[in-house]
Formats: sequence, structure tokens, C-alpha cells
Amino acid sequence: MKIILLGAPGAGKGTQAEIISQKLGIPTISTGNILRAAVKNGTPIGLEAKQFMDAGKLVPDEVIIGIIQERLAEDDCKEGFILDGVPRTIAQAEALERHGIRFDAVLSLEISDAVITARLTGRRTCHACGTPYHITAAPSKVEGVCDKCGGALEQRKDDLPETVKHRLGVYHSETEPLKDYYQGKGVLKSVPDLGGIEVTNAKIMELLGK
Ligand code: AMP
Repeated sequence: MKIILLGAPGAGKGTQAEIISQKLGIPTISTGNILRAAVKNGTPIGLEAKQFMDAGKLVPDEVIIGIIQERLAEDDCKEGFILDGVPRTIAQAEALERHGIRFDAVLSLEISDAVITARLTGRRTCHACGTPYHITAAPSKVEGVCDKCGGALEQRKDDLPETVKHRLGVYHSETEPLKDYYQGKGVLKSVPDLGGIEVTNAKIMELLGK
């Protein structure tokens, strides 16, 4: 199966992608994760992408298309894959189509801007081991300190309130039009905000007919 997870930043695409990936035995491909690894490793792509990411802007289409082409050519993608955070523009969707890739389902996670804003601005991650926290929904025992390894908790630069506002604006103007694009191809499936990871996943599996 070839699946796209569409939705605003912080809608839970990454979380759902991992669960679907385990259940269906196909890999998740997240351009956000690939780019963050590139930034961390200081690769040429990482150096180029960092300025856009820190500002909450989209990385140029040609960079993304190159990354995704390379990743989809790998062996583990033969039986299908889940795209998390890509395509994010019509140009990216058209590039995938030009490469002959057709999707079985495009799942659009529908969540209000207010819920997203609270979620993203409260998100924290351990600098050392990567464990995720949330200041109200999943706080660490000691503020700013990781329960697991004692590392310092940090906020992603792109989760600062002003940047989140900007990212939501970009989502509505650049990415949301993809809903009509895939609706026109008959593969769009809307996933309502059911308020929890498990119930949302159950709905997704039902929509996928699994
Ligand atoms: P994410 O983790 O998916 O929210 O991605 C974090 C950041 O990486 C985004 O705010 C963009 O700057 C960049 N990015 C990730 N995927 C894409 C994409 N498909 N197109 C453009 N920029 C992207």
C-alpha cells in the first residue's frame, strides 16, 4: 500500500505513521526527520535546509523531490510506504505523479489550529536521548529534565509560538490545496479529531479497510 499522511504540523502524522507502519509492515518516510538528521550531520542539504526550517518555511521543492526520489528507490519501499509530511505542495505531488507513483489512500488528519498551537508550543524533547514530553499533557517529573537520562529538555526552534503561527499559515496556503487535488483523484479520506491516538488509529485502519 502507498499512503500519504496529510495534516497540519502537529496533527499527529508522525505518531500515526509509526503505528500504521508497524501494523502493515511498510516503512514510514518523513522528510522532516530526514532533514533534521541532515542538519545534525551538517551535510550540504542540511546546511541549505536549516535556515528554512528554523523560520518555519518550506524547504524548496527541488531539494525535497531529490530527497524523496532517493529514498523511494531503496529496497524496503518495494511493497509500499507511508509518506509523513510530504508532499507538502502541489509541485511535490505532481513530481511524485510524474515518477509514476499512485497512492491508495491520502489520509487527511483534521485538527483545529487552536489544538495544534497548544500541542506544538508545549512540546519538549530530551537533548540527549530524544524522549518526547509535553509541558501539560506529558510533563517530566522535574521541569526541564529528562526522566529517563537526566538530559536537558529543549524546544524545537520551529515550535516557538510565532513560528508555529507561521507554519500553520503555510499549511493552509501551500499544503491544504492538496486535499482538493487528491479528492479529484478519488483517494482522499478525512480523519476527524477523535481526541486520542488509539481511537484515531482505529478509524484510520477502518478507512484503509484493514
Ligand atoms: P515536519 O517535521 O514534517 O514538521 O518538518 C519540519 C520542517 O522541515 C518543515 O517546517 C519544513 O521546513 C521542512 N520540511 C519537511 N518536509 C517538507 C516538505 N515536504 N516540503 C518542504 N519542507 C519540508
